Amino acid sequence: MQVIVEESSKLAKRSKRDALNLLYGNNSGSITVTLSICIALVFGFSNNEQQHFKIVWFSFMCLLLLWRSIEGHHWKTKLKDRKYNATKPLLRFSISRYLTALSLSSYSVLFFNSMDVIELATTIVIMSSMAGGAATILSANKWLAQSYSVILLTPLSLMCLFSGVDYKVIFGLLGLVFTVIMYLSARRTFQFTHESILIKNKHSDLLKEMEEKNKQIVEANVNLEEKVKQRTEEIFELSHIDPLTKLCNRTAFSDNLKLLINACALNDSTLAVLFVDLDGFKSINDSHGHGIGDKVLIETAKRLTSRTAIPKSVCRWGGDEFLIALQNTDKNHAYNYGKALIKRLSQPIQIDHYSLKVGATVGIAMYPEHGVNDIQLITLADTAMYVQKQFAKSDVCLFTEAMRATLSRDILLKEGLTQALENDEFYVTFQPVIQSQSGEVSFCEALLRWKLNGEHISPEEFIPAAEQHGLINSIGSWVLHKACLQAAAWSFDNSVNLSVNVSVAQLMQGDLVSVVKSALNKSNFPAQNLHLEITESIFAHDIEYVLNQMQALQSLGIKVSLDDFGTGFSSLALLQSLSADVVKIDRSFVSTIDKGGKAIIQATQYMAQELGYSVVAEGVESKAQADTLSAMGIDSLQGFYFSKPMRLEELKQWHEKYKKLVEIE
Ligand code: C2E
Ligand code: MG
Ligand code: MG
Repeated sequence: MQVIVEESSKLAKRSKRDALNLLYGNNSGSITVTLSICIALVFGFSNNEQQHFKIVWFSFMCLLLLWRSIEGHHWKTKLKDRKYNATKPLLRFSISRYLTALSLSSYSVLFFNSMDVIELATTIVIMSSMAGGAATILSANKWLAQSYSVILLTPLSLMCLFSGVDYKVIFGLLGLVFTVIMYLSARRTFQFTHESILIKNKHSDLLKEMEEKNKQIVEANVNLEEKVKQRTEEIFELSHIDPLTKLCNRTAFSDNLKLLINACALNDSTLAVLFVDLDGFKSINDSHGHGIGDKVLIETAKRLTSRTAIPKSVCRWGGDEFLIALQNTDKNHAYNYGKALIKRLSQPIQIDHYSLKVGATVGIAMYPEHGVNDIQLITLADTAMYVQKQFAKSDVCLFTEAMRATLSRDILLKEGLTQALENDEFYVTFQPVIQSQSGEVSFCEALLRWKLNGEHISPEEFIPAAEQHGLINSIGSWVLHKACLQAAAWSFDNSVNLSVNVSVAQLMQGDLVSVVKSALNKSNFPAQNLHLEITESIFAHDIEYVLNQMQALQSLGIKVSLDDFGTGFSSLALLQSLSADVVKIDRSFVSTIDKGGKAIIQATQYMAQELGYSVVAEGVESKAQADTLSAMGIDSLQGFYFSKPMRLEELKQWHEKYKKLVEIE
């Protein structure tokens, strides 16, 4: 509200100033006209009697006009074009103009009686024209404009009207009519001028406001541009930088690698891509938590960049995997660089009060020898790293052509496995396990089979591939469901148990307990008749978690068998805490039963007996082996000597024949 009042008072002041400027603008013209009229009146009609008084009057008028000239000059030099307060100058202007009007009017009153008809007519005409001019010239001031004609004409008109002389009465009437007209005209002209000034000022206010707004818009635009620039940088960082290590991410590295490859192609030079995978990082994460794990990755990133000139050539590919691109590098240099890198990365890392150690395995692929684009080079370096890791960790491996076959086989398996369930390419076979004393079938082991494009692929090849590519959970779940459904329907012997292999990955990542529950529910297969075979390699994992999972499975009523026993990591203490139901001795010991395998089988059997586990010997291929193992007191035997793994239909036929054979014996 206050702002509005202030604004309108400013507008009023400005309008007043503009009005005065308009009045003063006509000052010189008006002085000249007035002076000319005075000369014409005083000296145009010389009258000996009155001439003396006329000169006095004229002198007064000259002084008055001089004052007005001085005022006008002051306005022109001191006030015009400035922001001045118009109140006092307007008062002075008004006084001088009223005085002029009064003086002119006094002339007609003072010298009325001495005027002849011509002088009177001329005076009335002059006064009327001056009143007419004033209505326009003084239109910026309401009171001056309106009163000027009244002051100039009324006394003269009234004197004429009351003179009693006919022609003078007519002059008087005409004068009064003219006064009224001039008064009204001055009113209208003032109104018009006043509004024009107001509109002009409002217009200029509007322009100023627009200019201000424009300025604000320009400023806002500048700010917006700045913000957009900032955001773009942030988005670039988010999409190109790994937030943890501040190294390049996959996108940025791949983009940069493409540029480096192009440069190499132009210069005819070589380039190496190093795929670096940390060894032992997972156990740091597991035992010290992700916070410490993150710090290890940050420190690793620092060590990776410390000797690399171009930061864009180093990237965190994901998890504990990093990539380095080395320009103008031959195989030897890349190999030595990799070796030095492993040494650097293997130095202890001091975090809080821990001294932690990680190793690194490095795979290298060369441009243009091994691959000519970014995807090829990264994949091949990864393959070399993977192959090296299988063989021995913490070393460098250069990609070789022999690995290409491994890689294409891996790709074939990965793609095939992704489609296998959908294409119904899997089927389950069963291999019977025989009780050594009675010769009865005690259970059948479900073994998965896969035929890809007419080729039988061994589970020893495709199960690890499925684990590596994260497909084992869905495949494992399918096997469990299928095997339970088929076992529930097998007609040859209801007392025969079913044993299904379960991958370690299923136990560690998958929701195995609920998968087992679902398979049992859907098939109606009794839980107490189901065995799950888990390889001994689970001991390499988080033991507490493994034990919990196994207890959860056993609480469902199912039994747990420890598969391929003797080949891996088990210790006596772990074997004790595991409380498995069955231990399956690996077939490598059975096949070497005559060359030292027997001692291991005996030791295992003794140990299992002590712990209350039953023992199965795998890979029994001959009668001699079967007899030896039976004589040693091994509970059950499994192997080609009895039967190869079979489809359900064959199993039934086999069982018919087998029963007769056992009866004969
Ligand atoms: P495993 O669980 O130890 O299975 C026994 C393997 O020994 C089977 O190989 C079987 O065919 C083979 N075998 C049985 N008797 C003899 C014999 O007298 N001589 C010889 N040389 N071999 C014999 P298979 O079917 O090729 O399976 C290999 C491995 O693949 C299995 O070893 C198991 O670890 C894995 N596997 C098979 N099916 C599945 C499955 O459904 N899930 C998971 N996770 N693993 C499976
Ligand atoms: Mg098995
Ligand atoms: Mg086995």
